[in-house]
Amino acid sequence: MKVVKFGGSSLASAAQLEKVLNIIKSDDSRRFVVVSAPGKRDDQDIKVTDALIKYYKSYISEKDVTADQTWIINRYRSIIDELGLGQGILEKITKAIIDLANLPIDNNDFLYDTFLAAGEDNNAKLVAEYFRKNDLPARYVHPKNAGITVTSEPGNARILPSSYDKLEELCDSDEVLVIPGFFGVTVDNQVCTFSRGGSDITGSIVAAGVKADLYENFTDVDGIFAAHPGVVHKPQSISELTYREMRELAYAGFSVLHDEALIPAYRGKIPLVIKNTNNPDHPGTKIVLKHTGATIPVIGISGDDDFVSINISKYLMNREVGFGRKVLQILEELNIRWEHIPTGIDDMSIILRGRELTPIKEQEIISQLTRKLEVDEVEIERDLSIIMIVGENMKNHIGVTAKAAEAFSKKHINLEMISQGSSEVSVMFVIKTEQEKAAVRALYQTFFETE
Ligand code: ASP
Repeated sequence: MKVVKFGGSSLASAAQLEKVLNIIKSDDSRRFVVVSAPGKRDDQDIKVTDALIKYYKSYISEKDVTADQTWIINRYRSIIDELGLGQGILEKITKAIIDLANLPIDNNDFLYDTFLAAGEDNNAKLVAEYFRKNDLPARYVHPKNAGITVTSEPGNARILPSSYDKLEELCDSDEVLVIPGFFGVTVDNQVCTFSRGGSDITGSIVAAGVKADLYENFTDVDGIFAAHPGVVHKPQSISELTYREMRELAYAGFSVLHDEALIPAYRGKIPLVIKNTNNPDHPGTKIVLKHTGATIPVIGISGDDDFVSINISKYLMNREVGFGRKVLQILEELNIRWEHIPTGIDDMSIILRGRELTPIKEQEIISQLTRKLEVDEVEIERDLSIIMIVGENMKNHIGVTAKAAEAFSKKHINLEMISQGSSEVSVMFVIKTEQEKAAVRALYQTFFETE
């Protein structure tokens, strides 16, 4: 039994939906279908979810919403017309979109989420209707009826563990069940969404709940590549990755799958495969608990920008009890998340995502470190990138980091920092952002083109 999730680009037009129907019809074990909202048809297009955000903004600022409603309804209408579906489904969707503008604005923490969720909710109704019209018994199931109960955290919901037992009851159905992705329902019956791109999370939750044999996540690429195709020309695709490798790669820029989507499938021990709706015969990338055979030491290379480093120096820092705690407390009080903390004898660097450090917070940190902790020097370094080489099998090979360092030195790339966790599943390098692409290419050449 398989749970299949389709992303927005797979559902953007009638032509794409035909591919979806063929994929489901070609394999009887594809019993649960999780859908995103219609995505972009081309680069100039707008995602339905983004159009819903615009609609929400017009509504709460009491502007005329007719144009926003019409755009969204027409988006569904064009798909419905091209697929030759009846007026009934169009009327249902039209009403649902218009009714959003009757919801209370005041004291409604879930209004934004309710608007956003309408993208997937209406699309699931459309897809179920289309399947039925094409002799595939199918039924739309609202997340409330599926049992997807979530925490009351608008825009950032998390699944409640009690959901899984209820989800298992879905297995009793003979029809293909079509479930909208991206949102659940709180115990108080409010629609609450996961973070953006969260339909992947729903797919993973459903797969864990029904104890699927496989979670198939269909996108518009042939799986995951060993490096970003925008940086390296025609990189190799990866046939198998472990959950840990995927997590490490996703951390630094591999965004094919939402990073929170790994957890439910991982805990439920459900293998996951990333496949291409436009090329469904390609085996894609399988994400497994453990590699099934021998693998190369470095399986993927990722890079991500917009990191900042707070570099702190104080003579005899290593002798001062509680110094690290006091530094982190300053960050905690300013509600700042940190990523890495490489240290020396008398210095400590704290690496953060750039968005965490607003100019006001930056000033506050410098002033508190100088006043309260009496540091000798504090410097803020911006425009840094993180490059990661990732592979579970690295721990069985000597000299991987040496090779990477040699590749950097040949290209005159200065290493600001290096860090390797005890699990040895990745090595992280911090460099200047202007050298990020050159660094990824140099590493790709070393680990994939010469071996
Ligand atoms: N439609 C939502 C978004 O654009 C969720 C998703 O596509 O997974 O973020």
